[in-house]
Amino acid sequence: MITKVFKFGGAAISTPTLIANVRDIIVSHSSSKLVVIISAMGRTTKALDIVFSKYLKDKEHGLKLLDQVVDDHAAVAISLGLDESKYRTAIERFIIENLSAVEGSRNEYLIHDQIISLGELFSTTLLTEYLLAQGLLVKWMDVRNMIMTNDSYGNATVNLPGSKVKISKKIKKQLPTASIIITQGFLGSDKHGHTTTLGREGSDYTAAIFAYALNVESLTIWKDVPGIMTADPALFSDVSLLEKVSYREAIEMTYYGAKVIHPKTIQPIQNKGIKLYVRSFIDLKSTGTVIGDPGAQTYPPIIVFDDNVILISITRIDFSFIDEEHLSIIFSKLIECKLRMMIMRNSAISFTLCIKDADDRSLTKFHEGLKDKHKLVITKGHQLLTVRHYEQKILDDLIKDRKVLFEETLDRTIQLVIEKQS
Ligand code: ASP
Ligand code: MG
Repeated sequence: MITKVFKFGGAAISTPTLIANVRDIIVSHSSSKLVVIISAMGRTTKALDIVFSKYLKDKEHGLKLLDQVVDDHAAVAISLGLDESKYRTAIERFIIENLSAVEGSRNEYLIHDQIISLGELFSTTLLTEYLLAQGLLVKWMDVRNMIMTNDSYGNATVNLPGSKVKISKKIKKQLPTASIIITQGFLGSDKHGHTTTLGREGSDYTAAIFAYALNVESLTIWKDVPGIMTADPALFSDVSLLEKVSYREAIEMTYYGAKVIHPKTIQPIQNKGIKLYVRSFIDLKSTGTVIGDPGAQTYPPIIVFDDNVILISITRIDFSFIDEEHLSIIFSKLIECKLRMMIMRNSAISFTLCIKDADDRSLTKFHEGLKDKHKLVITKGHQLLTVRHYEQKILDDLIKDRKVLFEETLDRTIQLVIEKQS
């Protein structure tokens, strides 16, 4: 029986030394059977994003850049003492499979996912080969046979019941001969058998789905930070570690920009009451943060920033009320253009909303879709500041000399859209 799921992100496996560190962590937990979810190494996903944009314009140029990504992985394989040509053959097969599946297609989103998904396929193959060479009983599994999604490439929706059945069946089959299962975060597949992805930084969510499907005791997300902090240590000096956090607190913090875990991670584990540990892969003595149901608990003020949010103000050209019908038109457009709303407010004739950073194509589509009957003012590049359990003094310090464009308070949570400091 699997009792634990681990997830290691790109930073945890970015160098040969850190990959050896991951081995040590896995070995020290080898009394339980583990499922280990892995992201792409280091900044591979970003590099593949560039490969994709070049590939669209000039296939050969894109493929040349992809060769570089393969070479970088091969160099790590050599440092780890692996057979380079065996590794290259294994990962080049993924390139051939994924690209031949979209030969001739003009669906950019589909092509994007076939390229961007290579990072996880490369990294899991590398780690598996390495752990096997180190004598561990490891099995590589293709997550695309287990996570079923729709075809919203780039941000696919997971069919949770269907995936749950596949995960438990396929993993169970491996258990007699393997004690560590390695598989990819971030990826899934649709009904056509095409690779899909779950949204940037989506590997945490994959790990939560596995934890849910296998009904494990705990999920551990290994990070390069000590756990969940009261604010981003890169921005503030006096931050402290939150040792216990409720599911609700975690979901609210991450939804509004706390980057430590992906916001979608919480729901599946909350549904089964599974504990989530967020802890450091460097400082192994520190126990980090545990997310669960800690009962009645008081929190210190928690500060979360989300950079690059967009503020949109919408009024009807004919000066009529913004009523439920108009709101439903606006909401349908948001869904169609895949824009994610963070906060909103309506008045008699206007509707103001703050959305997550989005590409120009989606924003233009949104504008075009509404401009016949509405006037839209769209401004970009603001910051969304969320302070939970706030105290006025802290808030005053935070927004001193800053221009506040929008403000919303609910209970002891305040949210402000503020102009970015230059
Ligand atoms: N590799 C993917 C990304 O960078 C998924 C992840 O890291 O969670 O977005
Ligand atoms: Mg990552």
